[in-house]
Amino acid sequence: MHRLNGIAASPGVAIGRAFVYALPPLEISDARLPASALDAQLESLRLGLARAASGLSELAERVRVERGADLAGVFEGHLEILGDEEFIAPIEALIRGSHLSALAAIRQAVEMQRQEFLALEDDYLRARADDLADIGRRLSYATAGVNFSSLADLPAGALLVARDLAPSDTAQLDPARIAGFVVECGGRTSHTAIMARTLELPAVVGCAGLLETVRDGDWLAMEGRDGSVVVAPDEQTLTDFKVLREAFLDERAAMLELAKLPAVTLDGQGVMLAVNIGTPADAEAALPWNPDGVGLYRSEFLFMDRPGLPDEDEQYKAYSRVAALMQGKPVILRTLDVGGDKPIAAVPFPPEENPFLGWRGVRMCLYREEGNQDILRQQLRAALRAAANGDIWVMYPMISNVEEVEAVLALRDEVRAGLVAAGIRHGAIKTGIMIETPGAALLADKLAGMVDFFSIGSNDLTQYTLAADRGNERIARCYQTFHPAVWRLIAMVIEAGKQHGIPVGMCGELAGIEEAALPLLGLGLDEFSMSAQSLPRIKRLIRRCRMDEARALAHRVLDARTAQEALALASDAMHAVMQR
Ligand code: PEP
Ligand code: MG
Repeated sequence: MHRLNGIAASPGVAIGRAFVYALPPLEISDARLPASALDAQLESLRLGLARAASGLSELAERVRVERGADLAGVFEGHLEILGDEEFIAPIEALIRGSHLSALAAIRQAVEMQRQEFLALEDDYLRARADDLADIGRRLSYATAGVNFSSLADLPAGALLVARDLAPSDTAQLDPARIAGFVVECGGRTSHTAIMARTLELPAVVGCAGLLETVRDGDWLAMEGRDGSVVVAPDEQTLTDFKVLREAFLDERAAMLELAKLPAVTLDGQGVMLAVNIGTPADAEAALPWNPDGVGLYRSEFLFMDRPGLPDEDEQYKAYSRVAALMQGKPVILRTLDVGGDKPIAAVPFPPEENPFLGWRGVRMCLYREEGNQDILRQQLRAALRAAANGDIWVMYPMISNVEEVEAVLALRDEVRAGLVAAGIRHGAIKTGIMIETPGAALLADKLAGMVDFFSIGSNDLTQYTLAADRGNERIARCYQTFHPAVWRLIAMVIEAGKQHGIPVGMCGELAGIEEAALPLLGLGLDEFSMSAQSLPRIKRLIRRCRMDEARALAHRVLDARTAQEALALASDAMHAVMQR
């Protein structure tokens, strides 16, 4: 028996035999070839490109049918790169100029292009370097004539073990067949970890020493909530893990039962509990948790991991798919929110001193010489067309003044008029804004008269109110979710919404924190939006409390001096309610 520790990536307990996923190593020599051999190398590169492209388009098509357009878009992006002269020319140049074999030239050219991305030291671009490695690997195996899509052979109930999983690997996984996975590389926000959570597969990532320790067919037990992995567990350990697995499954079953009940307080006040999603696949995965709608559809996911922009039709299909999955329940689509820590390849982002205070969110769409308003126009056309297939609400991120709201409303009217003039089928949408800058919160009484709803982005509202970068661990103690100043702004926003008769929701992480549920309810929040698995926990609290006590608690939280004091009040109240 051997114990390993990794990073907890996706909750759940799995026990099964290891399926070690490792590609056969390719023999690649950097020896200089005679000139007479070069034509054959160019020909094998050409064949490799064709084989890799056909494999990728098959994969993209299958993923499109099984998992939706968003994920398929990743592979379509890879396909585009594979056909791009800028990608191919350096490989050919290395064959012709340096007399390298096709495989050696692919390795060198891809590595050079990867290093260019990595040199930028940006998490997002680092992920693009991974994509490039994925493409290079696929091309190398195709050029060598080796088929490596062996994940399809995974035996049912196996635990997948690998150094890392590329997006194209995870896309081939059938969640019904595998018990979970453990990989040696990656962190909590890596592609692999995000995919595991979406598929609700137990997963541990960043597990050092994994491949040295585990052999194909070994028994493994793993816990995705604390990151522990046991190789060849003894009887007692196996029993312990079985007990843990039963407890996890019982808890999940109880939560799924709770999910069927309405979110209503003991004295009959109902609230909406919605889900945050990034892709249609997320919406599908959320259905068993019975959300009242989508409170935040982060549309930027459709724009990421690809060299170009999605066209209007692709957007229309994705938005319509989510609307159809939600069967008439509201879907709040957030317009493109990139910039800050989320650039996209299709729009050149100049370096900025303070990207989080810079060309981000709606600003990127509105403030550019030309062109970017077209991104928003196209997105609005797709949203208005999709609204013919469901209840679509559209909201704009990073609003900080009245002029921006006027600008987006004008764009919306212009786009709608264009659809009417062209006789194109479309539907009605509600228009809202995210309240995530202190400026918007303080001006909420003026903004409320201009739109149909508000959604509070507590992640950014906290970061901007407290001037504390939400991703900087060194000042994590300053990023205080329960800071009374943030709560006072939240209270102002809800109050402004009430005065103008518009609903106010929250889609930042705070909406899914159990300690926050009662005071937010007491302030009069109409809608809470969060990750699907948090829904029943928040629902359980709402169903056990009364509005008068929630209101009294909210008053005390607003009156607290420190975040610690506010949190202690909220936490005590939460525990008291849980005892019922
Ligand atoms: C927020 O800021 O609270 C929010 C929901 O937006 P994001 O986390 O995508 O910035
Ligand atoms: Mg935000």
